[in-house]
Amino acid sequence: MVRVALDTPLRRLFDYLPARDATFDPQPGARVRVPFGRQRLIGVVHSWAESSDVPREKLKPLLEIIDADPVIDAGVMELIEFAAQYYHHPLGEVIAAALPKQAREGAASRALTERWFTTEAGVAALDGNTLGRARRQRELLEILRAAPGTAAADLAQRFDDWRTPMRALVARGLVSSAEVADEAPASDQPLLRTTGPALSPEQSAAVTAIDAAAGKFAPFLLHGITGSGKTEVYLHTVAHCLQHGHRALVLVPEIGLTPQLVGRFRERFAVTVAVLHSGLTDSERLAAWRDCLSGKARIVLGTRSAVFAPVADLGIVIIDEEHDASFKQHESGFRYSARDLAILRAQRAGVPIVLGSATPSLETLQNVVNGKYARLSLPRRAGQALPPRAAVIDLRAHEVRAGIATPAVEAMQRHFAAGGQVLVYINRRGYSPTLACTACGWIAPCRDCDARLTVHLAAAKLRCHHCGAEAPLPAKCPQCGYAVRHVGQGTERVEETLAALFPTMPIARLDRDVVRKRGDLESVVGRVASGEARILVGTQMVTKGHDFPSVTLVVVLNADQGLFSTDFRAPERLAQTIIQVAGRAGRGEKPGEVLIQTEYPDHPLLRSLLEEGYDGFARAALAERAAAGWPPFAHVAALRASATTLVAASEFLQQARQLARVPRGLKLLGPAPAAMTKRAARFHAQLLLEAPERAPLHRALAAWLPEVENLKAPRDLRWSLDVDPLELF
Ligand code: ADP
Ligand code: ZN
Ligand code: ZN
Repeated sequence: MVRVALDTPLRRLFDYLPARDATFDPQPGARVRVPFGRQRLIGVVHSWAESSDVPREKLKPLLEIIDADPVIDAGVMELIEFAAQYYHHPLGEVIAAALPKQAREGAASRALTERWFTTEAGVAALDGNTLGRARRQRELLEILRAAPGTAAADLAQRFDDWRTPMRALVARGLVSSAEVADEAPASDQPLLRTTGPALSPEQSAAVTAIDAAAGKFAPFLLHGITGSGKTEVYLHTVAHCLQHGHRALVLVPEIGLTPQLVGRFRERFAVTVAVLHSGLTDSERLAAWRDCLSGKARIVLGTRSAVFAPVADLGIVIIDEEHDASFKQHESGFRYSARDLAILRAQRAGVPIVLGSATPSLETLQNVVNGKYARLSLPRRAGQALPPRAAVIDLRAHEVRAGIATPAVEAMQRHFAAGGQVLVYINRRGYSPTLACTACGWIAPCRDCDARLTVHLAAAKLRCHHCGAEAPLPAKCPQCGYAVRHVGQGTERVEETLAALFPTMPIARLDRDVVRKRGDLESVVGRVASGEARILVGTQMVTKGHDFPSVTLVVVLNADQGLFSTDFRAPERLAQTIIQVAGRAGRGEKPGEVLIQTEYPDHPLLRSLLEEGYDGFARAALAERAAAGWPPFAHVAALRASATTLVAASEFLQQARQLARVPRGLKLLGPAPAAMTKRAARFHAQLLLEAPERAPLHRALAAWLPEVENLKAPRDLRWSLDVDPLELF
């Protein structure tokens, strides 16, 4: 019996008999085509079994074996099985998440080339000169005799229409064709194009420590401020890994945002680097996956789902910006943390793993505190750059014009006069987050969300940043007809204000409205890096890895949302953003300055961040989490439900709650409406499960979920489980 995992929401495997006229049995990890009800599905062989719960006469045979060799090796299969258990998600859906779309649809695991050969009869026809006057046919036959296996693409280069005479030859039995898998190229090519700069003592120490751990599981936190040379450490470590004949897996957040990183790997290494990210077309993704599978790629560089990439002879795993929220899939389908799974992958493979960050997550720092991870520090900046000076501007004590306080304007003037560039960070895109009536108090709401519509002035639109709804921008209040006004600032408005304040300074803006297609990001980054733009205004996007050597001043327009959020992770994210954005200042020869505008200059978090840096902040924040019993001092899962009424969502969770058997120590919190209850015309609620230890939480979930699955729910209800959620409310 063959046990097959299918991409269905059912939490089980499906048994089949061997294929009828197969000459071999498929191995675990190979794809097969199977009958499933009235459908034919592609699944992956999980294992072979002696017996089945299904009576033998009811079992059907496999229809087709797609792969002679597994496309998921034993190591990755183990990782997938762990992930399915840990995130309590159906195995078939986890496998589906690990394969590119075209592979799920049955595309060959290796690139195939259509190649043409002469038959014996073809050779005889040439020798016997029996072809008659068919000149084209003779030419083709002669090419194939001289070069058997000529690729169709090569024939197409030489003849405009070769298919017609070839068809005639096929009809006469003189030629044949085959789809042939491409051979992996020999690997005697050099590894490196360049050796890179000589390492600093701290960088050398880090590389040495990681090298010394080769061949065994050893997690490292590479903690270095932005520009301290972490990427150089990765490049050296990967080079050593390749020299020993192994391959490297490098995970990065949102690769579209860091073309510079891909560039640095490609500049340094002469070997094939497979790049896997969400911006690829389906066929590009398939090609990259094939390069991984065939072993052609010696380095695999990818975002979240690349943690499942087929990388044989793995020698090292690297996670850049390990704190980044994009490593957690939390929106739909299979919700997992690529960082946490990468650690498991390294553990199973018995190889070192390096988690790099200027602002490590509190989870990772706690793992350093309890001795699970070794910390490698890069305290200095590479080259000449100095750490930036940071200070707060009290918004209550100064005149503020369109969100920018006088001392910030004066600082900008100073930095411009000294030839510097200025970066202004604000966490909102659009013109203003609110459109309000000057008379009756009307505020433009989203019809489908508990949210206001954001004004996009250039596009003359109101847009909801939560559901995507769009409406024309009204000139007057739709309720009373009086004038409307813009309340608050977004990037677009800040750009306008700065243009009025500094009319001679060219401004560049970086946010999701500006970056819409390939190349947009590069062109904005290019304008800033070349010095053409003197001011850069942007959202979160500006914090990601770009190197702007002439930026000497960074202004954070509003820090206060992160200080007073219901989300327990908000302060951590704010501190990370401030440190990351501050890291853009003074990366070149000139020292940098950072100004943070706030109405709460005495907030303990801001104080610890400014006075003791990120480490001081992290100590304070971890103490707070320990006291409150939040992760990493507790383990949490969220059962979320949404429906077209809040009552339906809450009732479902209430029923689920009643089904739960609660062991000692496990807490059930809720059901409660989500922080934004109404989103995209659906009402959201959640039930939290919390335990001080991981194991009892997972035992409870494993027993409970099958029962939740069997609950009768209204048609419009959707639910999902999020293990280790990033947000709790
Ligand atoms: P991070 O990844 O920590 O932001 P990078 O590795 O990108 O830091 O280094 C920042 C800059 O310093 C890069 O331009 C890099 O080429 C340069 N750099 C890094 N290490 C060295 C070194 N040992 N000697 C000279 N330049 C270096
Ligand atoms: Zn009005
Ligand atoms: Zn909306």
